[in-house]
Amino acid sequence: MSNITLDNVAKRFPDGTEALKPTDLTIEDGELFVLVGPSGCGKSTLLKLIVGLERPSSGEVRVGGETVTGRDPKDRNMAMVFQSYALYPHMSVRDNLAFPLKLAKVDRAEADRRVERAAELLELGELLHRKPAALSGGQRQRVAMGRAIVREPAAFLLDEPLSNLDAKLRVQMRNQLAALQRRLGTTTVYVTHDQTEAMTLGNRIAVLRNGEIQQVGSPQDLYRRP
Ligand code: ADP
Ligand code: ADP
Repeated sequence: MSNITLDNVAKRFPDGTEALKPTDLTIEDGELFVLVGPSGCGKSTLLKLIVGLERPSSGEVRVGGETVTGRDPKDRNMAMVFQSYALYPHMSVRDNLAFPLKLAKVDRAEADRRVERAAELLELGELLHRKPAALSGGQRQRVAMGRAIVREPAAFLLDEPLSNLDAKLRVQMRNQLAALQRRLGTTTVYVTHDQTEAMTLGNRIAVLRNGEIQQVGSPQDLYRRP
């Protein structure tokens, strides 16, 4: 079980900015949960609190019922994907995919198996020998996603992963991503400022404004409300 629970979690930065007001939220095991809202509303902060890149000023974060508040990101078994792909330029696609497994000391045979599977899922098989510079934006984003998948994490946290892509590719990748998430069944939190993207992707959606969740529900629920 990898449900994610925020119990009265708030974040105030040292300069006084209240990036997240006290928030209760449960993201269910296996769901694709979307956080949507304008720039500066606290989306990244909420994601970083879940992955452990920020510490809450108050409250508790639980994953699968277990408290992870204060735990290091590397001890949370979560994989984050950003809009900047953060691929290693000097490494081939294969080595980029294998690198997190090397860090995690996963044995060679298992690492090879996971890299092959991710390459198949993301249709990267033909590109494994290439360096990132020789890839298109969409291909780079797939490698970034692959690097998250190989770790077989408890959750994926995606922060505007498609916003560097052109509109057509964004729609295409959005659909691929949704299909992939369904296939893997991994709990996923997806951050976007794009309402259409939110409505298309999300099993459930939280609308954030000024550090506060204003609505949570399925796309149907949100359409029905005024
Ligand atoms: P979003 O991801 O929705 O664009 P953020 O979570 O990045 O929003 O930011 C929420 C608010 O917190 C903004 O007002 C932002 O300026 C502020 N903020 C983010 N990081 C810091 C920080 N390290 N110190 C002070 N304020 C911050
Ligand atoms: P620093 O550069 O000071 O190490 P970071 O914020 O880059 O700080 O990383 C802090 C911790 O977060 C490290 O233990 C790192 O392994 C982990 N970490 C960084 N990025 C991610 C990510 N995308 N997903 C999961 N853990 C991460």
